[in-house]
Amino acid sequence: MKHEVVIAGGGPTGMMLAGELTLAGVDVAIVERRAIAELVGSRAGGLHARTLEVFDQRGIADRFLAEGQKAQATGFAGVHFDLSGFPTRHPYSLGLRQNHIERILAGWIDELKVPIYRGIEVTGFAQDDTGVDVELSDGRSLRAQYLVGCDGGRSLVRKAAGIAFPGSDPTTSNLIAEAELAETPPEWGIRRDALGIHALGRVEYEIRNGEIVYADHGPVGVLVTEQHVGQTTEPTLSDLSAALITVYGTDYGIHSPTSISRFTDAARQAASYRKGRVLIAGDAAHVHPPDGGQGLQTGVQDAVNLGWKLAQVVKGASPESLLDTYHAERHPIGARVLRSTMASIVLRCEDERTKALRDTIAELLGMDEPRRRFAAMMSGLDIHYDLGEGHPLLGRRMPDLDLVTDNGPLRVFSLLHAARPVLLNLGEPGAFDITPWADRVQLVDAKYVGPWELPALGPVTAPTAVLVRPDGYVTWVGDLTQPGLADALTTWFGPPTAA
Ligand SMILES: Cc1cc2nc3c(=O)[nH]c(=O)nc-3n(C[C@H](O)[C@H](O)[C@H](O)COP(=O)(O)OP(=O)(O)OC[C@H]3O[C@@H](n4cnc5c(N)ncnc54)[C@H](O)[C@@H]3O)c2cc1C
Repeated sequence: MKHEVVIAGGGPTGMMLAGELTLAGVDVAIVERRAIAELVGSRAGGLHARTLEVFDQRGIADRFLAEGQKAQATGFAGVHFDLSGFPTRHPYSLGLRQNHIERILAGWIDELKVPIYRGIEVTGFAQDDTGVDVELSDGRSLRAQYLVGCDGGRSLVRKAAGIAFPGSDPTTSNLIAEAELAETPPEWGIRRDALGIHALGRVEYEIRNGEIVYADHGPVGVLVTEQHVGQTTEPTLSDLSAALITVYGTDYGIHSPTSISRFTDAARQAASYRKGRVLIAGDAAHVHPPDGGQGLQTGVQDAVNLGWKLAQVVKGASPESLLDTYHAERHPIGARVLRSTMASIVLRCEDERTKALRDTIAELLGMDEPRRRFAAMMSGLDIHYDLGEGHPLLGRRMPDLDLVTDNGPLRVFSLLHAARPVLLNLGEPGAFDITPWADRVQLVDAKYVGPWELPALGPVTAPTAVLVRPDGYVTWVGDLTQPGLADALTTWFGPPTAA
């Protein structure tokens, strides 16, 4: 059996990548260990602004917005940021549990007809000069040009590729579960003590006036810090009960768990995101504590960075070296996420010195400039890929402006729905000729009269033209007198087609 690309793992990262590759016309298949599509248990609780924008770029943000609850849930070290004034169509986070996020993504890739080999594991692979033989747990194998490991923190693909995973060992261990309680606790919500952070809350909740209001019945989500680190066995109901008794003095008669899992504050990042024809993305490439809710966002955005590049290499439009820009761009972003989550972990402690430090940081984050910068970082809106010196838009996300064209009004993001690059000419109509790239790059003449403002940076000079990659990042800014457009088109979208 053959595919151009095989993805190991159909979590959020794998599904997003499969969608991106399919939009670009690549024959891609997912191999997913889970037999059923539904994700059981609690993981991510929502989406931050940039991830919502990324979904908006593909025309699927409304599917998430229709089911989630908008909230100002971006924060750092206990300080919540209000994104209301930010120049984005999504100046908020969206409360939506990962099982729903995955269900919506699964619906999207189902429409795109992505084949999924379910209930099957990738057990190994062998790569040669022309492709990869991917071994499956049912004894079959798949041949692909490229294999991408989106197979989570314990990634078999990463390990089998021999990619180092340096970082820090865990200092805390948490149990997260969904179960029934025989007794109602006197209070819901978060509790902090010398051991760490704990939380009890009904799985179902509403956000009213910015406050979480839990349902008055139904299953309960439990988060509890364990007394000891380093357990290697699968967590059980008695582990959960013991941990609750240590913290709350009672286990509230916990019973009938539907899921119990353990996570730690280990923070590790792959030394390389690529080894030949094997790439890794999402948790397979980076694991860190859940503080700040960054994991799923980073994985989805890894996928959107990699998808179009891999598609162009598979289709022969670009050389393999384009894939190296995936590591070059995404590794620093992952490293930054690790840094902020590691700092959050330290700031979680309840001793007097840490409290003093937390208060000091809260004071700093009460000031305009630091607050704006951290809010932009934690929401992902400030991501900046190093594409060299120049206009501030270079390497940053293209804002979703309201344009006017000869055919009527147009949103920038709607130009990205098909995941194709676009040269947006806001100057003299008809001024550009990109015929040698016309098979790959859209050319759109439009007018824009509003302000140009970037999150964290503020107002920037209005450009005459911008070249926007399928992932929504600007790779060239200029006008007719400015050289470099042909170079940028060649670097990112391949050499010109001969006339
Ligand atoms: C308690 C907790 C809270 C969190 N909160 C947040 C949050 O608020 N915001 C946020 O953004 N992130 C959060 N995260 C992180 C988020 O859940 C992960 O970052 C996200 O699931 C990563 O997606 P992924 O697709 O890379 O990996 P995963 O979701 O782990 O998916 C990997 C998939 O690969 C499959 N698989 C594994 N091995 C194989 C194999 N050999 N062959 C085939 N299939 C395989 C698995 O079955 C799985 O479906 C949280 C995590 C935890 C534990």
